[in-house]
Amino acid sequence: VRILAIESSCDETAAAVVENGRALLSNVVATQIELHKKYGGVFPEVASREHIKTIYAVIDQALQQAHLGLSDLDAVAVTRGPGLAGSLVVGMNAAKGLVLGHNIPIVGVNHLEGHIYSAWVYRADEPATPEPKFPLMALLVSGGHTELNLMTDHITYQRLGSTLDDAAGEAFDKVARLLGLSYPGGPSIQKAAADGDPKAFTFPRARLEGTWNFSFSGLKTAVLRVVRQFEEHHEPLPVANLAASFQAAVVDVLVSKTLHAARAYKAKEILVAGGVSANRALREAFLAQKEFPVNIPPLFLCTDNAAMIGAAGYHRYQRGQRDPLDLDVLPTWPLS
Ligand code: ATP
Ligand code: MG
Ligand code: FE
Repeated sequence: VRILAIESSCDETAAAVVENGRALLSNVVATQIELHKKYGGVFPEVASREHIKTIYAVIDQALQQAHLGLSDLDAVAVTRGPGLAGSLVVGMNAAKGLVLGHNIPIVGVNHLEGHIYSAWVYRADEPATPEPKFPLMALLVSGGHTELNLMTDHITYQRLGSTLDDAAGEAFDKVARLLGLSYPGGPSIQKAAADGDPKAFTFPRARLEGTWNFSFSGLKTAVLRVVRQFEEHHEPLPVANLAASFQAAVVDVLVSKTLHAARAYKAKEILVAGGVSANRALREAFLAQKEFPVNIPPLFLCTDNAAMIGAAGYHRYQRGQRDPLDLDVLPTWPLS
């Protein structure tokens, strides 16, 4: 089964061709990061207009790289939500335009389910990676979401808990701004932290014992308080130490809580996905423990891409999902 996937939920215009939910035949991502940098975050109208400008070229390139035409496809999978309405609509309309007249089905996919399915994807010209095994504990850590889901089977999610305030990626982005670092905050903080001491500042870890929820707003406020103190004393900000200490606090909470949940639910494996799973300190912390095998996608599949939508779309397609041509987008669509 070959699926062309389209993703345009935020500020990446992406298309990919995926075979049988795993083998990546092509993968094209046009990022708008440079365009949004001057706003310090994603500017929705700018994002939508840019998607319109690039989407057809991105889709053409994905088909060309896979050496396939539309008639070789079994379905077109497209991100239906969650995301920015004006961005989602561009991918959705492009998908509808493609399937119209070609008699191939359209399959709407949840972006968060996509992030999780990035763990199944491997490059078709490389050996297959081991498949994640159920039951697994999935930590989804992205720009807009942070949640723990127990997966006992494909496309089956039991949400155990989620963030009560900021998502982990959002915390990285906000703290980066406090430290004068550029958007997106995750990579900037990671870079700054490389020269810093993670023990320089002791920032709070919201454990929220007895629940599987997270909270990062207190941590953000704690960083803000320290930044203000330095400003009041007209002292230069120890950016590297602040970045390293903040990052250590986030990693500590994410890893300990996920391990705890994996134990409690007797998971065979841990899966980590979403933009923040690109973080080196987080990856190293998960890989350093030997209690559970950990599946983290390669870096190029951590942030938004269409390969993951093709992988998730495959399982939807196999279960018979065929969506109508008037399918609407769902900007606030939960995973479960
Ligand atoms: P969602 O998937 O929840 O709808 P999104 O699609 O905007 O949100 P992603 O693209 O999955 O989010 O991830 C982007 C987020 O990942 C940003 O908040 C960014 O700062 C963060 N991020 C990216 N790379 C890193 C990194 N190396 N370390 C920490 N955070 C990172
Ligand atoms: Mg993005
Ligand atoms: Fe995302």
